[in-house]
Amino acid sequence: MSVGSLRSVYAVELEGERIVLPGEREAHLAALADVGTDDACSIAALFDTYDQGYREILAVPISLRVRDLLRMPMKTPLLFAKRKATLAKVVDAHIRDPKVRALHTALWPYIGLPTSQMAFLPYGAMMASYVGEGAFYCRGGFQTLADAIADGLTRHGGELLLGTKASKVGVSDRRVTGVELETGQWIEAATVISEGDVRDTFDELIDAQEVPKRYLRKLRRQTPSMSACLLHLGTDLDAPSLVEAQITIVAPYSSEESYGRSVRGSIGGVSVTVPTLTDPGRAPAGEHTVVVSAAVPIECGERPGWDDRKVADEMLAMAERALPGLSNHVTFAANVDHSGDLQPRYLGPIYGWAVEPKQAAAYRLPHETPFVGLWLCGHWTQPAGGIWSVVASGIQAARLVLDRSVHGGLMPLAL
Ligand SMILES: Cc1cc2nc3c(=O)[nH]c(=O)nc-3n(C[C@H](O)[C@H](O)[C@H](O)COP(=O)(O)OP(=O)(O)OC[C@H]3O[C@@H](n4cnc5c(N)ncnc54)[C@H](O)[C@@H]3O)c2cc1C
Repeated sequence: MSVGSLRSVYAVELEGERIVLPGEREAHLAALADVGTDDACSIAALFDTYDQGYREILAVPISLRVRDLLRMPMKTPLLFAKRKATLAKVVDAHIRDPKVRALHTALWPYIGLPTSQMAFLPYGAMMASYVGEGAFYCRGGFQTLADAIADGLTRHGGELLLGTKASKVGVSDRRVTGVELETGQWIEAATVISEGDVRDTFDELIDAQEVPKRYLRKLRRQTPSMSACLLHLGTDLDAPSLVEAQITIVAPYSSEESYGRSVRGSIGGVSVTVPTLTDPGRAPAGEHTVVVSAAVPIECGERPGWDDRKVADEMLAMAERALPGLSNHVTFAANVDHSGDLQPRYLGPIYGWAVEPKQAAAYRLPHETPFVGLWLCGHWTQPAGGIWSVVASGIQAARLVLDRSVHGGLMPLAL
């Protein structure tokens, strides 16, 4: 697997004006300071806060004991002080100009909540890594990452059963006993790690009578994250001459307005990416791949009155503002209905639980379950959603299963 770094991190199409935010820190801060009335030092202080949060996340033990919690105010003071903060609370203390706020928080769909509801830390960590380290993409598509992990598993003697659903997790006396596959095959196991939808694990795969009521009540109190709907397209437009950044956000001024529109049943904004800018081999010569995505409520596809065709049209119309001429230059669409009309693809909760302060970081579901030998990992659990975090989550779960130390940081990866 190789990675290609991107040029400018993102651009925002805000009411007819295109503003490009570079990945290099000083240039990024200057671009933000240029468009509004905020003092550049105040914006820089916000990014310093993000950097500190990012450094502290990397230093925090992957499994917290009581004494780690007691030491948090000294060892990771920012994580401790801001553990219940929303992004709006932190950003508003540094940025006053509404246009600068809108630009800075335009990537809110990548965390999946408007700034007044989103935990501060995930957005801060994303910004600290985008602006400074840069954004990265797996050359060949994200499948190459999954393939690399699968390759590691088989090289170490693991067996991978693709396309085979687990239909039951067996438990007895609060211990896991094995897994039944949809083929009817029973695999006896003293250890099972579940990384699918945690609600399915405890509502469908395990007999609900066996699950402690307190645990079920806890799960039912949690709120799932938003869904995304996607259009995967090919185009013969000259994309490199039309977009300046790998991500172009087309949205109204504020995350609240954009979120409100999508909750009310229309498209609040879109993110447009052109993976072939980084990885030209992914499309035939002279063409580009385009991904248009929008944050939508999880139940949207089944909502009465929800109209897939209207949604696809709205998404395409917004994507036109990033790539003028796109609708007349679509050479390929991954999803179309029987009459050839574009169909959006819905993904379900894209980050597991919604990334609210009360469901983020240490407040997220732990890997341990009420059953001996049954562990959880993935984006429903600690530390968070997103590729990096679910890899970390898998490593944490593996260390717990192998009874290796979980009280240091994540690095080095060696078990
Ligand atoms: C459009 C989109 C763009 C994104 N972009 C980014 C990005 O740029 N950067 C980033 O960091 N994150 C991104 N994310 C988020 C990131 O992809 C997720 O947080 C992450 O993939 C979650 O990983 P996971 O392993 O927890 O869950 P999943 O990737 O959902 O994997 C769970 C797996 O379990 C399988 N499964 C479920 N139930 C069963 C069963 N009963 N039996 C057998 N198998 C089962 C599923 O088929 C699936 O393969 C994006 C998400 C979306 C939707």
